[in-house]
Amino acid sequence: MYILVINCGSSSIKADVIDTQLKKSILELDAERLPSTPFIQLNNEQIIYHGDLNFESIIRYCLHTIKSRLAEKQINGIGHRVVHGGDQYSQTVCIDAAVEAAIENLADLAPLHNPANLAGIRSAKEVFPAISNIAVFDTAFHQTMPKRAKQYAIDKNIIAKYNIKRYGFHGTSHKYIMERSGEYLKQDVKNLRILSCHLGNGASICAIEFGRSVETSMGLTPMEGLMMGTRSGDIDPGIITYLQNKEKWTSQETEDFLNKQSGLAGLSGLTNDMRDILQQASEGNEDARTAIQVFTHRITKYIGAYAAIMSGIDVLVFTGGIGENSADIRHRICQGLEFLGIMIDDDKNKSAKLNSDNDVANISDENGRVKILAIRTDEQVAIALETQKIIQEKNKVNTIPKIPIAISARHVHLSRATVDILFGKNYELTEFKPLSQPGQFAANETVTLIGLKNKIENVRILGPLRPKDQVEISKTDEFFLGIDAPVRESGHVEGSPGITLKTAHGEVAIKEGVIVAWRHIHMHPNDAALFGVQDKDIVSVDVDDDERPLTFKNVLIRVSDKFKLEMHIDTDEGNAAEIKKGEEGELVLSAKSVNLHDKNV
Ligand code: AMP
Repeated sequence: MYILVINCGSSSIKADVIDTQLKKSILELDAERLPSTPFIQLNNEQIIYHGDLNFESIIRYCLHTIKSRLAEKQINGIGHRVVHGGDQYSQTVCIDAAVEAAIENLADLAPLHNPANLAGIRSAKEVFPAISNIAVFDTAFHQTMPKRAKQYAIDKNIIAKYNIKRYGFHGTSHKYIMERSGEYLKQDVKNLRILSCHLGNGASICAIEFGRSVETSMGLTPMEGLMMGTRSGDIDPGIITYLQNKEKWTSQETEDFLNKQSGLAGLSGLTNDMRDILQQASEGNEDARTAIQVFTHRITKYIGAYAAIMSGIDVLVFTGGIGENSADIRHRICQGLEFLGIMIDDDKNKSAKLNSDNDVANISDENGRVKILAIRTDEQVAIALETQKIIQEKNKVNTIPKIPIAISARHVHLSRATVDILFGKNYELTEFKPLSQPGQFAANETVTLIGLKNKIENVRILGPLRPKDQVEISKTDEFFLGIDAPVRESGHVEGSPGITLKTAHGEVAIKEGVIVAWRHIHMHPNDAALFGVQDKDIVSVDVDDDERPLTFKNVLIRVSDKFKLEMHIDTDEGNAAEIKKGEEGELVLSAKSVNLHDKNV
């Protein structure tokens, strides 16, 4: 497919036609210094513009120029980078009037970006009226962050009034890095804890636990987190009010100070360009040295914090202009992180040279536990591949069955060793009733869960036995028991908290195993083929209730020939959604999310 990818900034346009098979652009347009002094280049040729000096006219001109140069090549779809998708969009979507309105409404949260993105969308519709427009949101990948990571600790009424929360950005890049890491290491990302450090002029770091963003350093706006080219990153909010009082700054002046006069440029007093700062530092400039030290110190600090959040790291990735190209910066960041298993090989690090044919370098020392990679990110290609997926889905005929929804009450799965302690050596569980999934049963036997604060009695054991103990509870149970359990796919209990299990016969404190089950759909491979999904896809499910229609986002697909089609949610979700017995859901194909096995993501 040929996909036109449009990335409109406040003063620039980048529009590339990407061949999705080659994963390369065949036509590249860059326009800068907009709208007053446009400088437009198409594949290194400068284009002279004589029209009106307003943003919309220039975009239209750029798109017409691309159209005329495409000759016989037909564009299959247009992908737009949209910076802020707010709460509504956790996935790539086809742009209709509702999506356009939502992007417009979110302009408050991204005043520099969303209006420019919208201008790009409207111009594309005009210039290419017959072609579908797709929105790929910078914030979408981070929608999976748990509430505790999204929340700011401020007055909850203000939070509700203005929808203030941590949204995170650079999502397309972090997701691309996740997929490329899994592909390069030949490992399923569902088994990896990845730290993605996107270090460019804008910089952010993302903790990706088993395929999902669980923390990221940017927040409501792209100003939070790491120190950047011209942005301060984390700062004591007291400094802001102090300076506003002293300098009598308006809100715009304050924002400019934090956005444009800070970071590498502010501290060095020289430039926001890391290459120049490194050069000046090597020539003895103290301010340049300080800027580099603060920049790398803060990244190291975040790596430590995010390692704690994921209970360890398997892969550390550097990307973005600085992360991809500066061995010096990568070396400085990794210093002192050996205790986490992060050991960089200095020779490999120095000789790593990334380009389009050689986009990944493994720079880890063989003795380190963590794989350290430098990966060339390509947001334009990533957007094109996301767009292609939606276009392909749109072209499919919908012959999809409905999915029965079942509510799973709290329950435990036990290992042989634990049953031996709780019921006696070689004790066999007895069947109370079969479960809907073939071969599985609810046992007559129950256990008591003993947490830090409370205990819950008569919790059903499900058979057959499993290699690992697993206790599946709801968020409400978590609070009652006093346990902070992660949301996980069944079977992934690494690093989860433990709990005490008790019966009349015995008692055992398991070290790990308590999770809140990630809502999921069991399906047979035949169903998967019908739906056009694969094991570990993440999808949305619509419940078309007349009184209260709703969408379950972020639903995990689990495919096995032992499974029967059924979606499982926990009691909290069932209660909140008022799910009734016999209720059914519909897979939302147009909003289908990542295919975690798909090499093309
Ligand atoms: P990006 O925003 O991803 O294009 O990254 C831009 C940043 O990458 C700028 O600070 C550049 O100075 C920096 N950069 C590019 N190449 C190098 C390099 N070889 N060494 C250090 N920094 C670099």
